Amino acid sequence: MIADGHRARLLAMVRASQQLSRNSDEKEVIATFVRCALSIAAAHCVRLVSTDGECFLVECEARWSPDDEIVVSHRRPLAESEDSFKTILQTVSLTDMPVLLGTPFIDQTEVQASPRAYVPERPLLCVPLFDDGRRREILFLEGNRHTPQFDTSLIACLQIISAQTIMKLENLRFRTRDAVESSMIEEVKFAMRAHEKELAHTQRMSQTGSWRWYAGADTVEASPEFFRIYEIPSEQRVPSKKFIDLTHPDDSAPVRVALHKAIAAHRVFKLEFRITVGFGEIKYVQIEGHPQVDDIEGAQYVGVVVDVTERRNAESALQAARAELARAHRLSTMGEMAASIVHEIYQPLTGIITNAETCLRWLSKSPAEIGRASDSARRVARDARRAAEVFRGLRAVASNSGIVKVPVDLDDAIREVAFLLQGELDRANIRLRLQPDAPRPVLGDRTQIQQVLENLIRNSMDALQPVVGTQRFLTVSSASYDDAFAVVTVQDNGCGFGEHSPEELFEALFTTKPNGMGMGLKVCRSIVEAHGGVLQANRNDDDTVFQFTLPFIDSTSGADGIRS
Ligand code: ADP
Repeated sequence: MIADGHRARLLAMVRASQQLSRNSDEKEVIATFVRCALSIAAAHCVRLVSTDGECFLVECEARWSPDDEIVVSHRRPLAESEDSFKTILQTVSLTDMPVLLGTPFIDQTEVQASPRAYVPERPLLCVPLFDDGRRREILFLEGNRHTPQFDTSLIACLQIISAQTIMKLENLRFRTRDAVESSMIEEVKFAMRAHEKELAHTQRMSQTGSWRWYAGADTVEASPEFFRIYEIPSEQRVPSKKFIDLTHPDDSAPVRVALHKAIAAHRVFKLEFRITVGFGEIKYVQIEGHPQVDDIEGAQYVGVVVDVTERRNAESALQAARAELARAHRLSTMGEMAASIVHEIYQPLTGIITNAETCLRWLSKSPAEIGRASDSARRVARDARRAAEVFRGLRAVASNSGIVKVPVDLDDAIREVAFLLQGELDRANIRLRLQPDAPRPVLGDRTQIQQVLENLIRNSMDALQPVVGTQRFLTVSSASYDDAFAVVTVQDNGCGFGEHSPEELFEALFTTKPNGMGMGLKVCRSIVEAHGGVLQANRNDDDTVFQFTLPFIDSTSGADGIRS
């Protein structure tokens, strides 16, 4: 059988737990706890006091009002009238043992009584509750004459509800912390998404992708713009081979060598090269990489890739326009030259015709007028000499006598012409192979040497135009010949010159092109000869080969032919 008082306490405890489970706010939970303690103990007043060891603060207080209602108040310092309680509170705080005063105690081992022989007017019970290391909380109950005796079973009940209260508070705090953390995580995620979006937008506008290469795994982690430039589907990490393999075949070897060298020396690298993407579209990219070391992932490179195709195309268009202008200039010069030839030659030729006809007329007379016929024949000879002199003068102009020769880095001149024509070669789908290997500078006029090179390359481009179904190749190389000369070779796998002999090609006005002038090779040969070299054409298997020599800067001998 359970005694009535005990049953009432149990019921009060059950109600207390039900109420606590319904509370959703820390303040409410504490108020419920203090109110329940008041009911269970049938006390006059209950205070939940917290202390840091020195100061005491009434966190919550419940007491009966004159109208027999429970009034709850929160957070106030200990009042002066409550000073007498301080000793009891300090004793509990220090000993961690309940104190029971003003009532005969039941079990001496569980409580202490009358600290410092203080005799209160009413029964008092002071129970230590919890201690988080910094603050300790104590439940202080004050009875009155109607209050049943405070006993140790009451202490146990209060400690049980207190434990439940603590759990509830912890639970609420955890939930609040969790909610705060979740909202912080959401905020950070949102900010990161916004940042990523902005970065992607900036990268798209500047056509700049970012990347990170992990040396150990040989994989690349890159931004969406990087994948867009390379036109491959975006992935978390991709084997670097996937990108490297898209390097244009002509740039592949130099790019690999440059990358290996930079990585081996742990150096920054900056490269510009072509890539072939999609259905064979060629793009120009600039890549810059900086070495980095990470404790977890090991050696890495981070960098950017910039799509510079538009810029390069604009440059090529500019070069094409310049080349067109130069060609127009050449044509107009040729036109002027042709007009001056006509003008200079016309007079002596008309003189020759008139005098020859006159001569014939004197000879046809009977008897023939030999003296007059001889005069006419002399005038024919005079006019013919004049015509020959005009031709000699023109030849001197064409052979560029009067050029200023200086040391010329032939390989550099070759590379410059190749660079200028690269755009046109790309558009014509011609693969240019450069093999410059001249050991020393030559003596000559850089502009004129480049004019010869450009002419020969353009002729090869024209000859490659009809080639379909096989790769169009054009090779420009330089080498040393007999130690005194540099020999430059321009070779193509174009249509060739058919039944025409190589020497025919160099004849003035010889052309097989609908809009050709037939003067290019003639002018080239005269330039090369004016430099002390020779220019020849040949067929080599299926290739057309043009070769010319130029004397090295310290050469004294002459070249009279090129061995094939
Ligand atoms: P044009 O280019 O105005 O015809 P050129 O003197 O430069 O004048 O060339 C003369 C001719 O030589 C060309 O019309 C062409 O028939 C031939 N020729 C020149 N280069 C080549 C080449 N690489 N392959 C085949 N034929 C060529």
